[in-house]
Amino acid sequence: MIHNIMDEENNLSTRNNISKEEVNIPPHNVSWLDKCPVCKSGKLLSVTKKKFFGLAKTNCFECNNCNAIFIQKDQRFQLTEVIDNSNPVWQLYGKQILTEREWKNIAYGGMSDARQKEADLEYWLTQLKEGKIQLQIADDSPIILKKGEELQLVLPGISLLEPRVVRMGGYGGPSIRVAKGIYFRVGGFRAESHEELKNIDQGTLTLTTKRLVFAGNKRTVNIDLRKIISIQPYSDAIAIRRSGKQKTEYFTGIDKIRISITVDNRTYDVRFSGLILKYQIEGLIKQRE
Ligand SMILES: [Zn+2]
Repeated sequence: MIHNIMDEENNLSTRNNISKEEVNIPPHNVSWLDKCPVCKSGKLLSVTKKKFFGLAKTNCFECNNCNAIFIQKDQRFQLTEVIDNSNPVWQLYGKQILTEREWKNIAYGGMSDARQKEADLEYWLTQLKEGKIQLQIADDSPIILKKGEELQLVLPGISLLEPRVVRMGGYGGPSIRVAKGIYFRVGGFRAESHEELKNIDQGTLTLTTKRLVFAGNKRTVNIDLRKIISIQPYSDAIAIRRSGKQKTEYFTGIDKIRISITVDNRTYDVRFSGLILKYQIEGLIKQRE
């Protein structure tokens, strides 16, 4: 996992380890060649294919049942050919170069590491959103907690942005211009495309079981989680709409920490994001219902 030095010191651990139902674990004592990952019934047998007019030999394995072909690439194996292209394993892993361990996992009903990570993160996010897990990644609270309130998350180096009030010619009444180029879903929040947004302040964003608090140099924003109407997530920011406040509030720079996520004893180091924060807040609201 690549992460730079700045992130290193911010690498925090989550205090949770969630488990899914058991999956089939492949036996340790058998070779991956004993069970074809494609048809799951044949064996893979070594065949030697000469290429480049016999100058180089390639290690090749062919299934004695479905004729799937695997070619060795360094220490890994590429699924290069199958007879039936509609085979689901071919659909998912055709042309992919995976390790013996990964092919063995697939043969016994598991997944490649990349797909496993995707499935685990998706599962983890769903659990977080449903309020079934708590993501507590801070010990020291910069704000005074109220009775029954618990600290969840502290994010330093956050910018607060708000839409600029633009005076329209002739009428004099203030109107808010809608920001252009906003990325929906979980794209990055690009400040340069938000000319209509004004950088208000820099500070620390603290999430508790009841509130989201921005403590800046000039301004303090106290958001009761129950007052939140919607959260728009970005990879590095969130936009919050809440009752009692006309302007949308943008908090950017929330991707400066990394967290570790564990599902079924598999641990991943991931960058914190607007989507994680959104689901964390939704989970907290669900827990209070
Ligand atoms: Zn096969």
